Amino acid sequence: MAWIRSKNDHCFNVLRLNTAGRDIIRRAPQMSDQQLEQELDHYFHNKGWRSGERVEPKQVNQNTKGKEPSQKEVPNVRLTDTQRSKISDKLSQVFKKAHKTKELKEVIETIDNQSNEVKKLITETYNNVHVLPSKNSVYMPHQKAIYFDLNSIRENGENGYSKNEVLFHETGHAIDFNYKGEGRGETASENYISQKYNKTLEVMLAEEARTLDFGKIEKELYTKEGYYKIKEETQPRLKELTKEFRSLLRSSSPDIKAKRDKIQVEREVLSTKYFDTTHKLQRKYSSLSDMSQAFTGNKFEENGGHGISYFSAGPHGTVNKSANEFFAETFSSKVRNDESYELTKKYFPKTTGIFEEILKVKGVSK
Ligand SMILES: [Zn+2]
Repeated sequence: MAWIRSKNDHCFNVLRLNTAGRDIIRRAPQMSDQQLEQELDHYFHNKGWRSGERVEPKQVNQNTKGKEPSQKEVPNVRLTDTQRSKISDKLSQVFKKAHKTKELKEVIETIDNQSNEVKKLITETYNNVHVLPSKNSVYMPHQKAIYFDLNSIRENGENGYSKNEVLFHETGHAIDFNYKGEGRGETASENYISQKYNKTLEVMLAEEARTLDFGKIEKELYTKEGYYKIKEETQPRLKELTKEFRSLLRSSSPDIKAKRDKIQVEREVLSTKYFDTTHKLQRKYSSLSDMSQAFTGNKFEENGGHGISYFSAGPHGTVNKSANEFFAETFSSKVRNDESYELTKKYFPKTTGIFEEILKVKGVSK
């Protein structure tokens, strides 16, 4: 196969291409190298590439890049040039070293489009924390460091996030943790007492979560999105087609080849349909799914998660991490994912109210 330098390189490019390519990669671990090569070979051939050509990643459609920052009603005080270059300096270790200057610009634009208080919170937070490149995105309270995996901005919605949402998720953790001190148990979500509800976000979250039937919510939302129907329409047929395709792999007769081509086309249509839906579910419902996992142990279908052990052990035997996770998720949704934010508000109206109160108080008090 002359068009690949290494299998990883190959996979990476296919991964970025479209869903049929992803379908192949998904199954790659079960396939022999030869089978994988054959399928990919065939796949590229169908796409009209000649052997030896480098595969260029497909351009992501700008219109589907998740939420674009919305205009707020309150007149926005734009970031000054000094603030912009400060943010840029802070993030440069991650973005500039990886030559992602365009992405860096997008992040700064996103920040500039936030309300004044959110803008202030983010800029102040970036004055206080390190932002460093890493293979995993995580906030480390004791180091006051946001570790950010640049790969998470490569695709949109694939891991349940809109573009750049992960950076703002970790920024949300930093804001939460920088409330009192640096350690667990000292976060805003555990310590700030709401003026309206006379409770912390953590306590309110547990109260509201108890009233929710997450399983039922999942069924309702997923039915509304047409998920079960699409799954039924696509999955069994895709399995059939894969089986059929495999049985035709050995032959090179023109007839069989034509059959394979036909199968590939159908497969591509079906997987596109399926993955478009699942990615949408991931983008929209990952916050709810996280909370479902924290409180019931079950995540939503097709959604990733932290694993139940992640949430369980707070220092006070409480839902500690769930509150921290809620804060970070809601913060990134607010900044970058309208649909997810609206859902959070719908199912956790009071907890979201306290979250907003914290932003207001923190955003103006310093
Ligand atoms: Zn988190």
